Amino acid sequence: MKQMKIFKNKLTLNKKINGIKNLSFVPTMGSLHNGHKYLIKKGKKIGNKILVSVYINPKQFNSRFDFSSYPRDIKKDLNFLKKLKVDYVYLPNSKDIYSFKTKHKIYQDKASSILCGKFRKTHFRGVLNVVNRLLEIIKPNYILLGNKDFQQMKLIEMHIKKRKIQTKVVPCKTIREKSGLAYSSRNNNLSIKEKKIASRVYKNLIKFKNIVKKNSNKFKIFDLIEIIKRLGVNKVEYVELLNIKNLQKPKNYKTNFNIFIAYYIRNIRLIDNV
Ligand code: AMP
Repeated sequence: MKQMKIFKNKLTLNKKINGIKNLSFVPTMGSLHNGHKYLIKKGKKIGNKILVSVYINPKQFNSRFDFSSYPRDIKKDLNFLKKLKVDYVYLPNSKDIYSFKTKHKIYQDKASSILCGKFRKTHFRGVLNVVNRLLEIIKPNYILLGNKDFQQMKLIEMHIKKRKIQTKVVPCKTIREKSGLAYSSRNNNLSIKEKKIASRVYKNLIKFKNIVKKNSNKFKIFDLIEIIKRLGVNKVEYVELLNIKNLQKPKNYKTNFNIFIAYYIRNIRLIDNV
């Protein structure tokens, strides 16, 4: 059987992957779950080879607590990737990522200052910085990104387009547990009871989206926030309805809009969009 190759250094990685045609790339921060699995499977279908990176990027966290409490289990992750028959795994340290000058400057669209960007000021700069570097190191044909982090996916897409980078963004649907809860590495920090609360949040978003589609005048964001708070959510950071093409206020509420939310259960921050 073909062995999965693990690289900790970009130079050895480059030697191996240089010249591969149709390379798919899935960037992750580990604690892999079924959402990642979907991206990997899709990447395997559209590309000849697949590379998965596992790197918890300190620059995209805005609190020490959030960074240190982010779940980590590299042994489990490697087994997970082996089972999926991934070709290459890149496990860089910060020096490997940040010790070179990039060819492209980060393009940070103004859409980075809404939604999560309003509350996590340097977050998207950190995300774009690491993705820009990973793309220069790996030069993949495809990068697979989840709609779960919709704003992130859009901003990366805009950076790639603006800088004329030869990588195609492949957006992927959000994978959910049976309860509706979107898979997320952060779910590892939730108790069973807290996971139930998060799944009820999802169900309420779906319910409200249907109400809005039928009659947008009936919809009051304030009411939705109150309902969500009563479920046992500590804090709702934002709930916004936005057009998914341009992340602006929708012209109408029939199609092409999503409800975007960020909220806390205890001190665990969760995001979703439906
Ligand atoms: P992360 O490891 O959280 O940085 O996520 C790595 C990639 O997986 C990102 O493109 C995410 O949007 C995507 N992802 C995370 N959760 C899910 C999910 N439940 N369904 C689909 N994609 C996801």
